[in-house]
Amino acid sequence: SLSARGISAWFGDHQVLDDVSLEMPAHQVTALIGPSGCGKSTFLRTLNRMHELIKGASFAGEVLLDGQDLYDPQLRMTEARARVGMVFQKPNPFPAMSIYENVLSGLKMTGKRASLGEKDDLVEEVLTKAGLWSEVSARLREPGGALSGGQQQRLCIARSLAVRPDVLLMDEPCSALDPTSTNRIEETIRELRADVTIVIVTHNMGQAQRVSDQCAFFLATATTPGQIVESGPTTTLFENPADQRTDDYVNGRF
Ligand code: ATP
Ligand code: MG
Repeated sequence: SLSARGISAWFGDHQVLDDVSLEMPAHQVTALIGPSGCGKSTFLRTLNRMHELIKGASFAGEVLLDGQDLYDPQLRMTEARARVGMVFQKPNPFPAMSIYENVLSGLKMTGKRASLGEKDDLVEEVLTKAGLWSEVSARLREPGGALSGGQQQRLCIARSLAVRPDVLLMDEPCSALDPTSTNRIEETIRELRADVTIVIVTHNMGQAQRVSDQCAFFLATATTPGQIVESGPTTTLFENPADQRTDDYVNGRF
């Protein structure tokens, strides 16, 4: 499981997260919800050490993956990044690189190598898991940029899976996609749970209910940095929330 403990985050002297703790159990989908600007993406970036790449950004707290401190100075950043993968809002395959090479492109970063036969098997395996294999198996040499937006997003998921992460972080992965592609990705997310722990940011309340096992509702105000108001099983947050603000938010009254 992934465990965030007492996470605070700043951009310069502007604090955007205050003492956020969340348990993200293995093989579950955790959805992060909340209004724009409440710190969901920032929280997500602290989970794979991307926050520290932003100039002027700082961080306090602890992130443990199966008990191992992801911020341990002994742990190389590339190793942390390999164990905790990320898929972004806008699909970002390398447009001129082939579909096949796109899938394998993350491996170099981690220093992992695969032999030719292994590569073919790996490409087929992760494209299948990402729900894209049947659509692209005959077009693997075509450029990634030749795919539709939804296909590109599934290609990015396959690329993340190829490095065999324990956790996959997804920041609004469907918000640039049409409804059909969104359905395909949601299906993929539900199936991926068997392989990876998933943390997804979404503004789509239906999507949060369809794909997630547990939910965390984030909120910031003009004077208070982002905090979790309430977290728990998705059905509880949507059907029987403990906090009035959660009730208001999930029912679109915010
Ligand atoms: P949205 O739903 O709109 O994506 P969010 O919940 O993901 O919002 P964040 O992007 O984490 O929110 O932003 C949280 C706060 O941090 C906001 O006040 C934002 O302006 C600030 N912020 C985010 N990124 C940066 C940055 N690179 N430099 C300075 N401030 C930033
Ligand atoms: Mg965001």
